[in-house]
Amino acid sequence: MKKVLDYSVSDLMSGLRSVMQKEMSASRRLSAILTLLCEQLHMPSAVFYMMRPGEVLERYMMVGKSGQLPCFVRLGEAVAGEVALSKKVRIVYAKTGFNKTVFAVPVLRGSEVVAVLEMRSDKVQSLPNEVIESVENVAMILAEFLPELKVGKTSEKLGNISPSSQIEGIPLVRGFALGSVLIHRRFEVTGSILTDNPNREIKALNGAFARVQRLLKKRLNRTGLPIEEKELFDGYLMFLNDAVWKDKVLSSIQSGLTAQVALQKVAEEMMDKMRSSGDVYWRERAKDFQDLTVRLMQSLEQKSTRKKIVGNKILVADTLGASELLDYDLKHIKGIVLEDASQTTHVVIVARAYRIPLIGGVKDVAKMFSDSAPVAMDAVRGVIYLRPTDEVLEMLRVQKQHLLRLARMEARHRDKPAFTKDGKRISLMLNLGLSAGLDKLPSCDGVGLYRTELLFMTAKSFPDIKAQTEAYKRVLALAKGLPVVFRTLDIGSDKVLPYLTQQTEENPAMGWRSIRMVLDRRALLRNQLRALVRATAGDVLRVMFPMVTDVSEFLEAKRTLDIEVKNAMARKEKVPKEIIIGTMLEVPSLIFQLEKLLPYVDFVSVGTNDLAQFMFAADRTNALLSNRYDVLSPAFLKMLKYVADMCTAFNVKCSVCGEMASRPVDALTLVALGYRVLSMSPEALGGVKMAVSSLELARFEKYLYSRLDSAQSSLREDLYAYLRDHHVQLGDLQ
Ligand code: PEP
Ligand code: MG
Repeated sequence: MKKVLDYSVSDLMSGLRSVMQKEMSASRRLSAILTLLCEQLHMPSAVFYMMRPGEVLERYMMVGKSGQLPCFVRLGEAVAGEVALSKKVRIVYAKTGFNKTVFAVPVLRGSEVVAVLEMRSDKVQSLPNEVIESVENVAMILAEFLPELKVGKTSEKLGNISPSSQIEGIPLVRGFALGSVLIHRRFEVTGSILTDNPNREIKALNGAFARVQRLLKKRLNRTGLPIEEKELFDGYLMFLNDAVWKDKVLSSIQSGLTAQVALQKVAEEMMDKMRSSGDVYWRERAKDFQDLTVRLMQSLEQKSTRKKIVGNKILVADTLGASELLDYDLKHIKGIVLEDASQTTHVVIVARAYRIPLIGGVKDVAKMFSDSAPVAMDAVRGVIYLRPTDEVLEMLRVQKQHLLRLARMEARHRDKPAFTKDGKRISLMLNLGLSAGLDKLPSCDGVGLYRTELLFMTAKSFPDIKAQTEAYKRVLALAKGLPVVFRTLDIGSDKVLPYLTQQTEENPAMGWRSIRMVLDRRALLRNQLRALVRATAGDVLRVMFPMVTDVSEFLEAKRTLDIEVKNAMARKEKVPKEIIIGTMLEVPSLIFQLEKLLPYVDFVSVGTNDLAQFMFAADRTNALLSNRYDVLSPAFLKMLKYVADMCTAFNVKCSVCGEMASRPVDALTLVALGYRVLSMSPEALGGVKMAVSSLELARFEKYLYSRLDSAQSSLREDLYAYLRDHHVQLGDLQ
């Protein structure tokens, strides 16, 4: 005879009251409630799923016996996923298997599903309405204390590892490393301060200058020297030949200081000046100058700078000069941790050239680390594990393997054009300035942003028309027929020309820069456009103007180009067979003039670096603000969508050439917003291409659009989770 199960709603509710009255942690309370439900509903298992960003349910807790259950369930899939989607209770019966009855209830906060409670039975069981209602009440109570439950971040897929200690920083050179700490000890002046024999000191100083010069030249002559190291030492040699600096040191010695102290004093004065210029370029050069000064002081003591080490080391320092790093035997330096460093610091550039993982921005390194302590570095996420446990080591080993696998996958995609899985062609282009990155051209669709100012920044004086024409022709020749979009001179703010004297400005980023400057100094623009017209004679000229704030500026620049073309024709010179002219969109005011602007342009290229800086009123060079506002905020994304929609309406091509296009999640979001051309830094190309090729665009668009009205300050986590859950290759780690 079939046994009739007896349910007591009042027992269930009184059991629940007693659990709620007891002092216990939120997770123990959840466990007690699930156990109570199993008992009262005569169902052997209960599973509690939490909703994570990106519309994924994650199994959070399970009590009782059950069959194999997945850790993650997507919205709309399986019983729990269906309940989360419909926001309604569901009972499903199966004739065979362990789970003959599956009963799932949504846990709602407001109208949002925050979790799903699921009960399972190995018997077919019908549940009276009053029982279903009481379980819905339980779900309401669960919703109340849900915020107390500690849920891992979406990115924490490996969950429960608790290393003995971990320190966070900013990953500047990606990779993994293992070794023991080696604290870098800065050279200190030890000798006396004053001298009664200035001539002896001057002789010693000249000797030190000559020795350092010889050493640098010797290093420059090494075969296989990375280009980054060459540029660094070329710069140091230039510093060494600076007569003003040396004269100042000599006069300090004449006034009675020893050579070492005089060097240090003058260097400090000069570095103070460089730092206070407020300019990133000079702040970084101050570090190089300090590095060179240390080298000279060491040379004064005639000490060898080579440092002998054995074993695998993680070099730790507050600041580290690039040449100080090169004093170490790099085969023993497996990783670097620094307090003070950014992407453009020379030591970071050199570490990247030697593929040494580096984490910067770590506060109080002196207090955090001690010599010889074992550490493991995850310089992909920016985490340093002190005294790593076996679990951490295993986790890093797995992730390192994953990184290698990704690199292999990237290599496979390298020479294929980028199509989304549902067949949309996305043009991937490069942002270039000098020759670095040109080797990536065969695997992309051209150069979407050629920063011409870099040619000016590396010259000693304004390059004349001939020099410019040749430089542009060289780029076109290297591009071998692929399109190259030249951006006219974008100087000012953090891009300085040593030979251009500019007034000091309170807010250089919003100052007399870029198109503003060249429209005022029209000869600069005319010369550049003339050179571009000559370089592309008989070919296609693609040109765009930076920092356009008002349509009239664009029209004025375009007029200048028209005049140059006319003049060239009057001189019977060959002119380009086609001119494709566009503007960068970097200043918010231009967004509100699109209707007026778009009839005149062939394309718009969105410079999200500056556009974000002006939209959020947040200096792009200020580290304190770097994580404060996100370009993946609904506000920024809606603005980008508006721009893309307007361009489509006017049949104008739109692209993005800011840093956003270089990050896979951001790049895919741009594609979903309607951007079909992305221009990025060369090292990002492989990762973005892989991400695009694994994306089902139509589905992602739907999801993204449903989130654009969210009140969250950033959709990054949600978008990341969605993409990861839909098997998009994001180039990151498990
Ligand atoms: C931008 O602002 O997004 C941009 C691409 O220009 P730059 O970074 O050279 O200012
Ligand atoms: Mg810009």
